Amino acid sequence: MRKVIVVGGGASGLTAAIFAARNGQQVTILEHKDRVGKKILMTGNGKCNLTNTNDFRGKYYSSNQKSLQRIYDTLVRFGADDTRAFFEKMGLYTKEKKDGGVYPVSEQASAVLDVLRGECERLGVQVRTGCEVCGIAPQKQDRNVRAVCQGKDGKKRQATFSYDKLILAAGGKAAPVSGSDGSGYLLAASLGHSVVKPLPALVQLRCAGGFFKSVSGVRAQAGLTLYIEGRAAAFEEGELQLTDYGISGIPVFQFSRMAARALDAGKACEVGIDFLPYVQETDRDCFAQKNADDAAFGYKTVEALLAGMVHKKVASMICRKHKTGADLTVVQAGKDAVLGCIYELFDFRVKIVGTNPFENAQVCSGGVPIGEVDDCFASKLCKDVYLIGELLDCDGICGGYNLQWAWATGAIAGASV
Ligand SMILES: Cc1cc2nc3c(=O)[nH]c(=O)nc-3n(C[C@H](O)[C@H](O)[C@H](O)COP(=O)(O)OP(=O)(O)OC[C@H]3O[C@@H](n4cnc5c(N)ncnc54)[C@H](O)[C@@H]3O)c2cc1C
Repeated sequence: MRKVIVVGGGASGLTAAIFAARNGQQVTILEHKDRVGKKILMTGNGKCNLTNTNDFRGKYYSSNQKSLQRIYDTLVRFGADDTRAFFEKMGLYTKEKKDGGVYPVSEQASAVLDVLRGECERLGVQVRTGCEVCGIAPQKQDRNVRAVCQGKDGKKRQATFSYDKLILAAGGKAAPVSGSDGSGYLLAASLGHSVVKPLPALVQLRCAGGFFKSVSGVRAQAGLTLYIEGRAAAFEEGELQLTDYGISGIPVFQFSRMAARALDAGKACEVGIDFLPYVQETDRDCFAQKNADDAAFGYKTVEALLAGMVHKKVASMICRKHKTGADLTVVQAGKDAVLGCIYELFDFRVKIVGTNPFENAQVCSGGVPIGEVDDCFASKLCKDVYLIGELLDCDGICGGYNLQWAWATGAIAGASV
């Protein structure tokens, strides 16, 4: 029986602990928060989108293109079906939605955490909460991790835990309130690993321009194109949310990591918002001409005309931008001015100046390069140490792909120790 220490009781750490314990190892989880799995409770708006049955190819990013194949190989070894079977074996049944997203049938993230904790207990995994790991001594003799642990009396004390195998599952920096404060990167670096600069991903984008306050709170179906240095880099369609500082919503989240990395590299980023995705590309000129025709709608104010196509607040923002007064009719404004407003609704450009901070992000891009671990996630630099989950340089789009990565890396590393 080997002594296995798991640093971090998140999705990947709990899974690794379960797989290692099922193999008969003596497992201890060290978690610095007062309970394990805090982030799991936040996932999927409290419903936990725990995996996705769609093809995973094209759903993940890494700073190194070569790592993508390693990510896909991992998900072939432990995919969505394995995740569902893993949970079913613990008595948690799941259901699939139209978009392939898989949730617990109860749609309660707490049910996911409960079965993970229950299985750890059943297998005799020791869980030490309030235990902050601050150093690793990986020498041949007497290998141990140093931690500061809170005792039952509330006092903090230094403690050391010896290990035969160590699994680093401390997560990234996203949503630090859940415990992932970036200390995992420091621990990995102390063992000689490099760390690709972590940046917020699946996060809101902040925009230049003073008009956002007037449209804050508006939700609209929109097509969004991300432009990096003037070239279209990504397209997403879905529900856009306008906020007082910029843009949010699933389509924004999906390309936010590309924007974050481009901005970090000093590149210019813009988003073109198509507020009229329901008008076919080929019908657009005809649509604009028809609506700008004073014979048809000349009696309407321009704002009222636009408010028949988009949210009223967006209509009024466009009119203000084009200096078309609220009382000006289509006839009074003139066809060119009206056409200008309508064409702007097809491609409303906003300059992206930044992302929201890690506090608002769902995941991190960057982390320990996947090339620095082997196929079982054992470190190539430090014997008997494994690195798993979001700590690694892999991030997925929304839809259950990030938890899938956490379960998969946890299962493979846990079974391997
Ligand atoms: C709001 C929100 C919603 C999300 N929704 C979804 C979703 O629906 N589907 C999906 O696939 N993904 C979702 N994600 C992403 C997903 O939750 C993460 O990718 C996943 O939880 C990462 O798992 P992990 O085990 O690698 O890291 P974490 O879950 O971050 O776990 C790391 C653990 O390590 C502990 N720790 C860190 N440092 C130390 C230390 N020095 N000593 C001891 N303990 C330490 C932390 O306290 C934490 O418990 C969401 C994320 C957020 C923030």
